[in-house]
Amino acid sequence: MSIAIFPGSFDPITNGHLDIIKSGAEIFDKIIVAISFNSKKKGFLPTEIRKKLIEESVKDIPNVEVDFFEGLTVEYAQKKGASILLRGLRTSADFEYEKELSQTNSSLYQNIKTVFLITKPEFSYISSSGVRDVLLNNGDISKFVPKPVSEYYKKH
Ligand code: ADP
Repeated sequence: MSIAIFPGSFDPITNGHLDIIKSGAEIFDKIIVAISFNSKKKGFLPTEIRKKLIEESVKDIPNVEVDFFEGLTVEYAQKKGASILLRGLRTSADFEYEKELSQTNSSLYQNIKTVFLITKPEFSYISSSGVRDVLLNNGDISKFVPKPVSEYYKKH
């Protein structure tokens, strides 16, 4: 069974992330969306809320699980019996960063392979940090994020 980990901060999940998850779920038997967190650093949204918003956003995709982890992604992948890391690419800047990350991960754990999916053009400018900026300035984020995220912010 092919298990792919899709690691990231997802602070919050965006339509770009969701598109990569949907495509990944067509390719691999199982996708684990894994929220990486650092207990010493405060994120924008608490990890539990990030997890809940991802779960609500992927509820119609049967082979997707949501989890969180602290520490090295490759150790988490090993623990889950996964040998694939799924990552999304938007720009050439993403490529340079992701290449380094992928090479570091495979030198830490030889069996791990990173698979990259290129974002659809309509999502290529969307980032969690951009969404946070719009939110902090009271703008409308509904074009950039799945419905559960915009609904959450209407209430909070
Ligand atoms: P990280 O802090 O690990 O970069 P992110 O939550 O920002 O976490 O991103 C997780 C993954 O999703 C990364 O591979 C990133 O390149 C990808 N990603 C982020 N935004 C998009 C988007 N709009 N389209 C496609 N992939 C994206």
